[in-house]
Amino acid sequence: MPLSRKTEIPNSNSDYYYQPQGNEIELFEYAYSHQLPLLIKGPTGCGKTRFVTHMADKLDRPLYTVACHDDLTAADLVGRHLIGPNGTYWQDGPLTKAVREGGICYLDEIVEARKDTTVVLHPLADDRRMLPIERTGELLTATHGFMLVVSYNPGYQNILKGMKASTRQRFVAMRFDYPEPLLEQQILIGESQIDQLLASKLVELAGALRRLESDLDEVVSTRLLIYAGRMISSGMSPQEACRSCLAEPLSDDISTVVALMDVVKLYF
Ligand code: ADP
Repeated sequence: MPLSRKTEIPNSNSDYYYQPQGNEIELFEYAYSHQLPLLIKGPTGCGKTRFVTHMADKLDRPLYTVACHDDLTAADLVGRHLIGPNGTYWQDGPLTKAVREGGICYLDEIVEARKDTTVVLHPLADDRRMLPIERTGELLTATHGFMLVVSYNPGYQNILKGMKASTRQRFVAMRFDYPEPLLEQQILIGESQIDQLLASKLVELAGALRRLESDLDEVVSTRLLIYAGRMISSGMSPQEACRSCLAEPLSDDISTVVALMDVVKLYF
């Protein structure tokens, strides 16, 4: 769970520290007030989950987060019958709980879920705002306050894993990227408790690593920079922290790790 940092957020009523990158807070609030579902695209570790957590807290809505994967079934979202000491009983899944309670349901990496699973979202993600539960025969209408938010990393996309056009066309969409250097520095200071100098060095290093021509699937994320900052501030040598938090997580190939470390050595 993110740390509570209420005191560090000017003009914010959320306990979850979030540094806006642009107008995403306003856009989220508009989508929420018009009861529109939201799609957030962006690379891993750039702040999507933190943003949704911050917004749920700011809007005072319960948040149900589901990390999607290819075995995720509609029942994992909607619910299932379970067997207990007194026989079978129905247990709501996270989507159903959010629909009943007027909460926010956040489906992270939605493209990982099977397409037949995401079809359950269709009647919820348009004007109907309904969730039919076949197993119980219920037809739920979403309580005011319910919002569906999904995210994915466009970099991972392939033909098989793209989002169905009929699904994506139901969402208001926004794009995230790694924050601008000054913002990223502030985030690092806020999240790792490191000083300005170290934060600016790490962010410069990240810029150099992100510009490298390489066949890596991913570039260094804000999340990894935060890990490195925390390790360094607790006494680890900067090179070792950068190796274990930046170079090794990005590649299994030894020569690539060596090349990434050559860049690190220019800064630390
Ligand atoms: P994603 O969901 O995009 O993979 P996260 O939201 O988990 O990424 O972000 C990773 C970490 O980076 C968060 O836990 C938080 O510490 C930090 N972070 C990234 N962007 C921001 C931001 N704009 N404000 C505050 N913290 C951020």
